[in-house]
Amino acid sequence: MSNVETQPQETVCPTTPPTDGVEVLEPREVPLGGPRAMTVRRTLPQRQRSLIGAWCFADHYGPDDVGATGGMDVPPHPHCGLQTVSWLFTGEIEHRDSLGSHALVRPGAVNLMTGGLGIAHSEVSTPGTTVLHGAQLWVALPEAHRNAPKDFQHHEPRPIRLDGATLSVFLGSLAGQTSPVETFTPLLGAEVTVDAGASVELALDPAYEHGVLADSEGLTVNGTATARSAMAYLPTHTHTLVLANTSDEPARALLLGGPPFDEEIVMWWNFVGRSHEDIVAARDEWMAHSARFGEVEGYAGDVQHLPAPPIPAVRIRPRGNAARHTRDS
Ligand code: MN
Repeated sequence: MSNVETQPQETVCPTTPPTDGVEVLEPREVPLGGPRAMTVRRTLPQRQRSLIGAWCFADHYGPDDVGATGGMDVPPHPHCGLQTVSWLFTGEIEHRDSLGSHALVRPGAVNLMTGGLGIAHSEVSTPGTTVLHGAQLWVALPEAHRNAPKDFQHHEPRPIRLDGATLSVFLGSLAGQTSPVETFTPLLGAEVTVDAGASVELALDPAYEHGVLADSEGLTVNGTATARSAMAYLPTHTHTLVLANTSDEPARALLLGGPPFDEEIVMWWNFVGRSHEDIVAARDEWMAHSARFGEVEGYAGDVQHLPAPPIPAVRIRPRGNAARHTRDS
């Protein structure tokens, strides 16, 4: 979806040193505009930690009564420097993009859209959708691929049963399951549903850092209690995840991971770049209807080209984080 904050701040996302143990990233509520509109709960980026692997943006939303909020209706809007990863728990969203893709986003299937140099898309919940519940995630592209061409991949992983849980691996590899979806840095994305009162043990790649985005109450992550919509961060050199469900209903989480992303990025609105100039150029080209982003065909709403918010008056400067070391390489 689009970041529909009316006055988005330009955000420098420096690399952040790992912690010794589990670090809980608390969500903050972000209204998606309009008096009735749905709110999302954002855990990435935040001041404490901007990235987990190349995962740079995480919004958790719902279950949302579409009758009360009107659901999702995001007009054609641009992205660059990133991939969007859409994962639904409930509902259905119609996706159209400037590559010509037309897809229905449904629970249990991942849709990964690449907006390297640039892409545009619209997202509308379908008329039959009464409840919307899911996550919108973004992945930053590494320097070598940040101008990658438009692409759209769809994959429906086969859920498997483990002792105490059901697992769907939609990106990367876990528990012997591997997703065929191609990414530009090593990534893990999986949905784990732990049985009531049970726990599951998963072997992790110790070269990865991980985040567990809790979709339910009652989950503990390697012994640390995690409220719904929070993200429990696990540093590199973590070999095992024990996800325990203390509730008497099944509890679900998304497990995200990847090797630490060692480039500092700049995020603003729906763009990822390396500098303020990158962001200004992307905004100018979107507003000029440049072929860089292209046009979305078939969106039924009135707004055919979502205007970008004004660029912030204050020019952002890199933070000079000590952990930043390969930005210029
Ligand atoms: Mn979007």
